[in-house]
Amino acid sequence: MSTIWVLGNGQLGAMMRHAGLPLAMDVRPVSFAPEAPVPDMAPDDLVTAEIEHWPETDATRRLADHPNFVNRPVFGRLADRLPQKQLLDDLAIDTAPWRAVDTTLDCHTLFRELGDRVLLKRRRGGYDGKGQSWLDPREGTIPDDWRGAAIAERGIPFDEELSLVGARDRQGRLYFYPLALNLHVGGPLHASLAGLDRLAPLQQQAETMLGRILGELDYVGVMAMECFRLGERLMVNELAPRVHNSGHWTQAGASISQFELHLRAVAGLPMATPAVKGPTVMINLLGTDRNDAWLSIPQAELYWYGKTVRPGRKVGHINFCSGGRASLESPLSALRDLLPDRYGRVIDWVRDNLKGEAA
Ligand code: ATP
Ligand code: MG
Repeated sequence: MSTIWVLGNGQLGAMMRHAGLPLAMDVRPVSFAPEAPVPDMAPDDLVTAEIEHWPETDATRRLADHPNFVNRPVFGRLADRLPQKQLLDDLAIDTAPWRAVDTTLDCHTLFRELGDRVLLKRRRGGYDGKGQSWLDPREGTIPDDWRGAAIAERGIPFDEELSLVGARDRQGRLYFYPLALNLHVGGPLHASLAGLDRLAPLQQQAETMLGRILGELDYVGVMAMECFRLGERLMVNELAPRVHNSGHWTQAGASISQFELHLRAVAGLPMATPAVKGPTVMINLLGTDRNDAWLSIPQAELYWYGKTVRPGRKVGHINFCSGGRASLESPLSALRDLLPDRYGRVIDWVRDNLKGEAA
């Protein structure tokens, strides 16, 4: 079997490598460090990416120029928010109204066109809410360093945030997980909850949207679509042409994880719609020191990324899957006692959203 090279060697690449092991797939994440060795690639090897933008180094150039770089043209279109928003508009898929922030645009035009809450988003390189800034109506000016490098979006008063992770194979067939409910605090994802009965009525709407995007891009592999829910209506926030943090729950809650599904699609192996085991919780560990006591919680499945802990940095996650709401209560209580106090609101959010689900 040919080697699958991954642009990037962060936690997503590591989890792809891990997912390939039971199938004896040779998955090799490649570092962006300037001194990283240039891989020795065979003509029938495959290339994928764990992130949508990468620096130019000898190693990344070798991967990106390989003829079997799957979805290569897609990265240019989706890594920049401007063509990404244009794509959504072209497909008439609902997204927050937006404007390119060019050199002549003035603040008043933006507020007049987009409403009284306007969010500036850098076109490239933003993540975890970084590279975003609410436009201050009192200032009355757009900072120069955002011009030509950002879009402006209407602030959306959404009810909640959801995401759909789906995959398309080489034959154009589609595979979806159930929608995940996501808690973002100040940008970064803190927790996801999947397999909720109350989200089922939105599933078809979400699948139709992502299915059209995947088809239009002739995409192969896993893509994530982040959405806002406004009543019964979904609006796309952004697209990620890769495995995604809001799909980490699939490691515990689905018969095929998003990482394996992506690898299967990229390698042209048989696909299947993943069977879901039950309501599943994913808690992100952000800027939190490792605590081995987490491992004493029976249902906890810990992924620790081995990174230096810095405030707010994603350093791991814990998944819990169960046959129903009731069996999640005890592990959630145990985890609450073992996490810093600031996680209280995250655990409360999970509990609140499990209310109403079958016990
Ligand atoms: P991440 O990497 O965590 O997905 P990001 O940096 O790529 O985030 P976005 O997903 O665009 O950026 O924004 C981060 C969060 O900011 C969203 O999850 C949402 O909570 C909030 N947000 C983004 N756009 C809007 C908007 N137009 N109106 C209101 N809130 C928004
Ligand atoms: Mg996002």
